[in-house]
Amino acid sequence: MTGVEEKEGRTFDSEGSTTYVVSSDCMNCGVCEFMCHTGAIVQAPNQFIIKKHLCDGCAACVPFCPAEAIVRRDRLALRQEDTVRARLRQVLGGSQGP
Ligand code: SF4
Ligand code: SF4
Repeated sequence: MTGVEEKEGRTFDSEGSTTYVVSSDCMNCGVCEFMCHTGAIVQAPNQFIIKKHLCDGCAACVPFCPAEAIVRRDRLALRQEDTVRARLRQVLGGSQGP
């Protein structure tokens, strides 16, 4: 794990910033925006995002995301790999016919 520390249930990177991010799996449902007590989650042009300087790393938003799109920064690449694999399975499975 690169540069991420856990303290009292919260995660921080080496600069002391919290580490939750929204992956491209975001479906724009807006649920997380209501769950965040610091106003860190906002709508961006293509998806919701977390404003790093406002996020305190509490992880309260994470279990409410139906797309499992809110992840720790150090796990973002793995999350995106999982998504690519799942989409490939769908495409390849769908091409085999009934
Ligand atoms: S809850 Fe998840 S899918 Fe919904 S807007 Fe937030 S990040 Fe996107
Ligand atoms: S981890 Fe906590 S503070 Fe950060 S975006 Fe989620 S609910 Fe808001």
